[in-house]
Amino acid sequence: MSAAHQAIRTAGPKLAVTALEATGDTSYSACGIPYWVAGDVSSADALVARTAEQHRKAGIDLRLGATATGIDRQARTVTYRDAAGEQVLGYDELVIATGASAVVPDWAVDPRTGQRYAGVAPVKTLTDGAAWLDLLAGLPGGGGRVVIAGGGYIGVEMAEAARRRGHTVTVITRNRVMSSMDPDLSARIEKGMHEAGVRVLTGLPVVRLDVADGRVRGAYTADGELHPADLVVLALGVTPNTAYLDLAELPSGPSGALRPEPDGSLADGIWAAGDCCETRHRLTGTWTYLPLGTHANKQGRIVGTNLVTPGALRFGGVLGTAITRFAVDTTYLEIARTGLSEHEAAAAGIEVTSLVTEGSTASGYMSEADPITVKLLAAPSDRRLMGAQIVGGRGAGKRVDAVATALWHGATVDDLAWSDLSYAPPFATAWEIVQVAARRLADRL
Ligand SMILES: Cc1cc2nc3c(=O)[nH]c(=O)nc-3n(C[C@H](O)[C@H](O)[C@H](O)COP(=O)(O)OP(=O)(O)OC[C@H]3O[C@@H](n4cnc5c(N)ncnc54)[C@H](O)[C@@H]3O)c2cc1C
Repeated sequence: MSAAHQAIRTAGPKLAVTALEATGDTSYSACGIPYWVAGDVSSADALVARTAEQHRKAGIDLRLGATATGIDRQARTVTYRDAAGEQVLGYDELVIATGASAVVPDWAVDPRTGQRYAGVAPVKTLTDGAAWLDLLAGLPGGGGRVVIAGGGYIGVEMAEAARRRGHTVTVITRNRVMSSMDPDLSARIEKGMHEAGVRVLTGLPVVRLDVADGRVRGAYTADGELHPADLVVLALGVTPNTAYLDLAELPSGPSGALRPEPDGSLADGIWAAGDCCETRHRLTGTWTYLPLGTHANKQGRIVGTNLVTPGALRFGGVLGTAITRFAVDTTYLEIARTGLSEHEAAAAGIEVTSLVTEGSTASGYMSEADPITVKLLAAPSDRRLMGAQIVGGRGAGKRVDAVATALWHGATVDDLAWSDLSYAPPFATAWEIVQVAARRLADRL
């Protein structure tokens, strides 16, 4: 919808834009769903950025309940299915923006019905969010047992939501919690979650469920142990919605996602944006699948502009910048990262030196002061920054943006250490902690 609006903004009302949407919902913040489930957001409506009416008022022919089933590149048509049956639509320019779906493993599905077992659900759509509100409300207050399969950011956010709703929470993850961070920083997050009463089991995947009458009763880990559960959250990542395309005919990667050029073009008259796409990593130059709303919004705008004004905008790649939080009772952790982790640098054949620095989010004499841990990575060969990971209290997380901006422009640790960042006692220390970290890493290098 971002591409649709931007195309009309760029071309004016003479452009005929049709949008096909399989479900009944468009343009909502999936990112807000865990906070809606936690009780921070009052209703699903609050998460809707633009209603169907608003899209139509802007001149978009929005067709809900319309599932694209294939494209014919020669005829320049899209086939789709709606309540009336199979339809064919011609196009001059086609934007593929079908996003991604939550991974639902075989063990979550009842082979007799082909449906997920009762009490087992992912967290992807507004329908999922509403289902989670009902499922959690159906548990005895304080007595429910929620198992979360997956320790990525959605697993962490749902652990927060279920715990804040008063339930017993176990996170089971085959790797570590927030495995996009290095183990030393993951360990800090796991410690905070333990302190807030969440049981965290790492290095063990869920391999099957204990089920009675089609309803989940527990989850088995690979070591054979049974973890009792009234509900199981599927937070196992997403897979791109590209099955309806002939991927042999379109640039795509092993993830099954498309590989558009930096201007968003994929093939003659075809463009692609968002979670159905891989992106180029700005530091390694390699294709990577990092489905995030930050990239999807930019790519949608770029495609909407370029299909009217070719070559006007370029997507500059991704750094893997991301942020989340885990906040339950007195535990409050902001978690952020950008650039490469040690593992990612090694996989890319880039030598890095790293250093962990502990400090404070504000001057020690202020009530705002919270602990903060900053890990910085840089290449010893040219002193260029390669990554940052941050875990800390209020105000810690968004500090990652200073490092992300530096990384974006190819800065060295010295550039970051000596740049002009802000300070007043409620917000920072006179030597801002990110700059202390950069200075120390510069010394080490
Ligand atoms: C719980 C959760 C929390 C998140 N938190 C964050 C966050 O904090 N920060 C962040 O940057 N990102 C976050 N994300 C990711 C972000 O929501 C996505 O990156 C973003 O929604 C991708 O936008 P998109 O338009 O590419 O795909 P989508 O939002 O998935 O939209 C694709 C649309 O296409 C429709 N569709 C699929 N197939 C077809 C078809 N064949 N025909 C017609 N329509 C079809 C789908 O129904 C869907 O409406 C979060 C995601 C989730 C699920």
